[in-house]
Amino acid sequence: MDMRLILLGPPGAGKGTQAKLLAEKFNIQQISTGDILRQAVKNKTKMGLKAKSYMDQGKLVPDNVVIGIIKDRLDNADCSKGFILDGFPRTIQQAESLSQALKQMEIDIDHLIDIEIGFDYLIRRLTGRWTCRECGEGYHKMSNPPKKKGVCDKCDGELYQRDDDKEETIQKRFEVYRKETEPLKDYYQKNGKLNAIKGDGGIQEIFSRITNLIT
Ligand code: ADP
Ligand code: ADP
Ligand code: ZN
Repeated sequence: MDMRLILLGPPGAGKGTQAKLLAEKFNIQQISTGDILRQAVKNKTKMGLKAKSYMDQGKLVPDNVVIGIIKDRLDNADCSKGFILDGFPRTIQQAESLSQALKQMEIDIDHLIDIEIGFDYLIRRLTGRWTCRECGEGYHKMSNPPKKKGVCDKCDGELYQRDDDKEETIQKRFEVYRKETEPLKDYYQKNGKLNAIKGDGGIQEIFSRITNLIT
């Protein structure tokens, strides 16, 4: 079954965690602009070098860069059976470009899911987050620890704490979220597709909320 999803929500809401579970369950591609940008930074590509300073400061990477990434990915044959966007769109401009691109491809999004959760939870989630340097899998030191400390369950890669997951950068990211990304809720509400789910509770509990909503 084709399935095209968008996950919205503030930094730390669990978008990446849920996107990976959904990608596996429905056999669709996870497209995370954050993961793609971090790979580019790691590989020191031209795009990566440009993006790094924005990311380190907790600012958004310019729209034209991320829109380019998404158009490239959506064109890829592996997305023909469906995809889940996690971390894109983050601005109205990005949402409009996405809708144009989808129109050209004659496809549509099936579900937009907004994960709602208070900022007090998010600080704990982000400061305890460990990320795999190789595959991007996310862990949490308390709520979602790896089997072996510092090592990815999936690929044996090294786990690290993201530079932008320190408290002062987190505050900046929240500010950017409120200003640039939160208005997307109204934007999407207007075409009636937005569904909100509560983001508190365990990972499996939230996964059930989402799958109940979309199946
Ligand atoms: P989180 O999951 O914690 O919200 P992401 O991994 O999605 O973080 O994003 C990390 C950083 O990458 C952002 O702070 C931003 O600098 C950049 N980024 C990711 N996605 C986008 C996007 N759609 N538009 C602009 N910048 C982005
Ligand atoms: P986002 O992609 O929205 O920034 P992540 O999926 O990376 O968020 O989750 C942020 C952190 O919170 C990670 O350390 C992750 O392991 C943890 N986490 C995700 N979902 C939950 C949950 N339901 N309960 C507790 N911790 C969670
Ligand atoms: Zn890994």
